[in-house]
Formats: sequence, structure tokens, C-alpha cells
Amino acid sequence: MIVIDKGEALIFDTPVNDSASEELLNWVKDSLHCKVKGVIVNHFHVDCLGGLARFHKKGISSYGSARTIHLAKLDSTITPWYSFDTFAIHQVGNKKIISHFVGEGHTSDNIISYVPSEKIMFGGCLIKHVGAGKGNLAHANTSAWSNSVRQIKLRYSQSKIIIPGHGAAGGQELLDYTIALFEKK
Ligand SMILES: [Zn+2]
Repeated sequence: MIVIDKGEALIFDTPVNDSASEELLNWVKDSLHCKVKGVIVNHFHVDCLGGLARFHKKGISSYGSARTIHLAKLDSTITPWYSFDTFAIHQVGNKKIISHFVGEGHTSDNIISYVPSEKIMFGGCLIKHVGAGKGNLAHANTSAWSNSVRQIKLRYSQSKIIIPGHGAAGGQELLDYTIALFEKK
């Protein structure tokens, strides 16, 4: 997800590598005519932070939860610059964006980000597109997953558009689908 306002942009997750990140950053600069203020990392996997080196090289600040930074340090050669505890509010132009660790699921650090003014949520890999399988469970907590998404559904019940980590965006049905997928049978 990219949130833009008043010539500024905030990016949610880097592409998986440097070359795709370069392409994205050039597009934001040359086509959207926005200055990238920062990048928020959803969790410690490569599909969230694999392009971080290119962002850092351009002086773009990166943010992740303390959990993400801890896991990234163990797992990869690069970590976000700035950490927040379980909740953060970032600003781009006049818009505020909430980033919040609500509970474990795809990983033990996966957050969601929410734009109240647009009622848009970036769910990352914690939220599945309708029809999706369970995906990469290497670092998952499948017994906590449904409950984490249930908490998100309660706290962010106003969400109109929900963007999953992979696949098509939709509405609240993505939350219901994900809750059902990991419900104990
Ligand atoms: Zn992941």
C-alpha cells in the first residue's frame, strides 16, 4: 500500500528486492510526483523488507515494531531503522495512519496498518484474500490466528477496503474468510 497526500508518500512494505524497490521509488517520484517520507515494515519476512537497502540508500526512514526488529535481527542482514512498541501513528500530508500489532498469526510480529480518513486497512499476510490457502506457515501461530483477526474485526469494524499481503483486495469478507480458515474444526 502507498498512502499519498500533499506531495508526500508513505509506503507499506518494500518490494522483495533492490531492483523492484528502485522501480517503485522512481515511479512514486516521477509519476506520482511525491516525496517518500518513509516505509513501514509489516513483519520480518523478505516480502516486507527485502528491498530495504535501497530505501535506506536514498535516506528513506524505515519503521517496524520492536517484535519485527528483534526477529529481523535474527533472520536477515537488514532491519528497519526505527522501532515502535505495539502501536504507532504516522502522518503523511494531513493524513494519519495507524500501525498496530494486534496478535500473532502469519508470524509473531505481523501488524496491520489503517488509514482512518479512507477506512482502508493494509492487513499484510495476516489477512488472506478470499479463496487463498494458508500460505507460508513456517513462522505461523495457527492457533492464535483466528482470534487475532477477530480482534482486528472488532477494533477496526469501520474498515471498508482491506488489502491482504497477497491477492485481491476486498471488504470485511476477507476478515471473515481468514477467521474461518484458521478456526479449529
Ligand atoms: Zn510473511
